[in-house]
Amino acid sequence: MKKRWIVLLAAALLFSGCAGNKIEVENVIPTEKIEGSSLYVKKVEDLPDDFILGMDASSVIAEEQSGVTYYNFAGEEQDVFKTLAENGITHIRVRVWNDPYDANGNGYGGGSNDVEKAIEIGRRATKYGMRLIVDFHYSDFWADPGKQMVPKAWKDMDVRTKADALYAFTRESLQQMRSEGVAVGMVQLGNETNSMLCGESHFENIARLMQAGSKAVREVFPDALIAVHLANPERAGAYDGFAKKLETFEVDYDVLASSYYPYWHGTLENLQTVLNGIAETYGKKVMVMETSYAYTGADTDFSGNTISDETANIVKDYPFTVQAQANHVRSVIDTVAHTKNGIGVVYWEGTWITVGMNSWEENHEKWEKYGSGWASSCAGGYDPDDAGKYYGGCAVDNQAMFGPDGRPLESLKVWNLVRYGNEIEPRADAIRDTAIEVDLKGTIELPETVDAILTSNELVPVPVKWNVTDADLEAMYAGGVKTYAFMGEAEGLPARLTVSMISFNYLKNYGFEDGVADPWQTEDRGGADQLYIENKITDSLNGTYHMHFWSAKKDSVDFSLFQEVKDLPAGTYAFTISIMGGDAGDTEIYCYALVDGVEAGRTPMKITSYGNWDTQTVTGIAVGEGQTVTVGISVICSGAGNGAWGKIDDALLNRQE
Ligand code: CA
Repeated sequence: MKKRWIVLLAAALLFSGCAGNKIEVENVIPTEKIEGSSLYVKKVEDLPDDFILGMDASSVIAEEQSGVTYYNFAGEEQDVFKTLAENGITHIRVRVWNDPYDANGNGYGGGSNDVEKAIEIGRRATKYGMRLIVDFHYSDFWADPGKQMVPKAWKDMDVRTKADALYAFTRESLQQMRSEGVAVGMVQLGNETNSMLCGESHFENIARLMQAGSKAVREVFPDALIAVHLANPERAGAYDGFAKKLETFEVDYDVLASSYYPYWHGTLENLQTVLNGIAETYGKKVMVMETSYAYTGADTDFSGNTISDETANIVKDYPFTVQAQANHVRSVIDTVAHTKNGIGVVYWEGTWITVGMNSWEENHEKWEKYGSGWASSCAGGYDPDDAGKYYGGCAVDNQAMFGPDGRPLESLKVWNLVRYGNEIEPRADAIRDTAIEVDLKGTIELPETVDAILTSNELVPVPVKWNVTDADLEAMYAGGVKTYAFMGEAEGLPARLTVSMISFNYLKNYGFEDGVADPWQTEDRGGADQLYIENKITDSLNGTYHMHFWSAKKDSVDFSLFQEVKDLPAGTYAFTISIMGGDAGDTEIYCYALVDGVEAGRTPMKITSYGNWDTQTVTGIAVGEGQTVTVGISVICSGAGNGAWGKIDDALLNRQE
């Protein structure tokens, strides 16, 4: 039923277009499950029939001009828009720049997407039963939270004139789309407009421009949704603050849309909380307008990617595999589908792949000529600080849903399979990295199993074979404190191991960073005024916590701080601890060790003045099998002036031999 309804709707739109530009619609969006996929997909429960499953495909024309060929799953050359629709994509998103060309007509790159290209993409999307999401940047090139440059032609306009120009541009662009038969489903009033739009940063001006765009959309496509698009949902209060101002200035819009890149934009739980808040407080529809995930850490076009295996400090939920890409898409859809007024998820941008596999030089020529890289050198005149310096190829080719050869990745089917589920037998998809720490004086025991990450994203232990030779082991025993990396194989998949040879510390909470004393104990013989764990980074040797003491009364600083350690491997140990303080008067301070309650050594310590840490060690602590070691510090100060005070931090119990 639904399929028919979409066909009729699209056909109805066509009658309003010019007779010569009629689009013969062949709706190929499946209404049944795609069978036989090797992808594991858990069904998204209660996914509405009209949920938007979108793909930004802005670069397609520049890609095709650069010689890229797209294939379908049968291995045949096919219009990529047909392939997208056949795999469940319902909406195509396209960015529109006012004039992405220099004075000589050279394109800025990033697809050099103007209205003309949006119409061509829109017609091809419409042809296969999809609708267009028009992403007006209201700029001549990329707009995001960091830059919202005014179009060249509007540069010297005051905000009123600019609003008139924006209204006229929006209206004319959409009228052209309408007369060309493009099925427009949604229109964006700018792209990631968190703090600026079209060169304006005062909110009253932003609101005026948005309202001008909104008016034009309502006039040309009264049934289309109007979206305001923001980024950084992880910034507390940012969306609510923006939505509140939109309400204050009475901007007419329907959808608050968010970018969601898992590497930078917080958790899905946070995203859901933020969007639920917008839906509840302002009654708006909400969605994810951009998301993506890497299917590989490798670059394929000789131009570096924003995300790679080497990208440091990235917390990610999945490894970089085709299955994991599908898992990510499924997770975002599941989140938005279960958010109040959640209407859709759009991917950015699954069709942007390498323009060649041979060399940077060959690709560079195409990026420059056809605009198929993120920026060409010609953009430098308009955007000197970014494009002018860093122009180049595609930075997201490893996040596309087509391989470098133009063939669709299995993950593309996720857009269909989320509706039905494809809960086939899970298999190992990747091996989680393994890291071990080995005491320099201990024995290196390589892990016999590693965690396999299943296609269902569960972890199971599997046997592993490491490529570690006897010579490697000898080198590690002899090499001192150092970290080594090895490869191995488990379930036919590569496994990675790092071995850190360390001087193992047998004390727990050794620097008091747990924020509590446990398992340290104190014996406060003198009844000190203050003796507790303190959180003060400037008074800590390392970290932010330490043990603090102070007492105004003479002779009341008289305590021991100690930790008991059981089950040590038999051997000889050394105990080290640090103290600083002042106003101490006469002192008797020492660190010590007991083995089964019998003193095994002590070393005197002293406190002098602020910041002067005294670090001392008790060596040669002989421990037999099953014996208990107690290590600690005893502090007795008679006190002077304002009362004795001090800080104790960073205790070590290391094996000597
Ligand atoms: Ca690249």
